[in-house]
Amino acid sequence: MADRNAQEQENPEESHDGYRWSEQNCPICEIKPTKYVGKRGGASHRENQGVETEIWACGKCGLIFPNPMPYPIGGLGQHYEVDADQYFQGHDKLGKLDNAAGLVEQAEKLLGRKGRLLDVGVGRGEILIAAKERGWDVEGVEPSESFADYAEKRIGVKIWRQPVEEAEIPEAEFDVVILAAVLEHLYNPDEIMLKISRILKPGGFLYLDVPNEKGLYFRVGNVYQKMRGRKWCVNLAPTFSPFHVFGFGAKSLIAILRKHGFEPKVWTVYGGTSMVSMRGGVFGKLESVASSLITRISNLGNMGTYIETWAVKK
Ligand SMILES: [Zn+2]
Repeated sequence: MADRNAQEQENPEESHDGYRWSEQNCPICEIKPTKYVGKRGGASHRENQGVETEIWACGKCGLIFPNPMPYPIGGLGQHYEVDADQYFQGHDKLGKLDNAAGLVEQAEKLLGRKGRLLDVGVGRGEILIAAKERGWDVEGVEPSESFADYAEKRIGVKIWRQPVEEAEIPEAEFDVVILAAVLEHLYNPDEIMLKISRILKPGGFLYLDVPNEKGLYFRVGNVYQKMRGRKWCVNLAPTFSPFHVFGFGAKSLIAILRKHGFEPKVWTVYGGTSMVSMRGGVFGKLESVASSLITRISNLGNMGTYIETWAVKK
């Protein structure tokens, strides 16, 4: 925090286009990014979505993020105060929310019993519903009012309505924490992982999944832009839906897990379906068959579009 204040005095932050722009170090390694990835958004977007940002990568762990980072002046509500159903229209197609029961079952196998589960970023609450139905003791974290109301009304469980790092959750309170499709949206992933590490019991499990920004889908997308003579990239979406601000690959994800006392026990890289947010965007001019072929090829190795892991807290 002291460093950040010093930096602000030396280099006053700018505000424009609805964002406050702030110099961004790699939150994991705490160093300046050294690898330029490309421009993203605004004039550097096929549909002119959002505001143009410069995307960089950490030279040490490979984490991808905008520098400077655009923070919405209106707070998170500027991005997320939308109707829950409307926001999740695209997400449903990813099939992730349909897997809630399978996820809880997997948690039970890893833990060897049922226990206390916290879902961070509950969205429409499918995971909480599935866990409650199987006899787990469940709570959720959801700072967005519309999403919190939706979940509380529908499921009737305790929802912490602050960002997880601000919620007064006792230490070693939960056996399982679920962070599904959340980490890439957060402006302070390091702080979040520290907090989760504290509220989990030793031997407890963290589930998380993120887009694999080092996957073939992104690599091919970036090459495609280059072939068209554009200095654009297809990583992240800092100023337009789905508002991904940090981009992980295997190396950066393992780095942040180990930094906070986690060891991955289950590690899956998979292609999934083509990313909905990109349909009609990046690959809009490629045949859709080419996109699905990339998805199928990338299922074969570590080049898939998503990474998911169950990590044990030591
Ligand atoms: Zn780093």
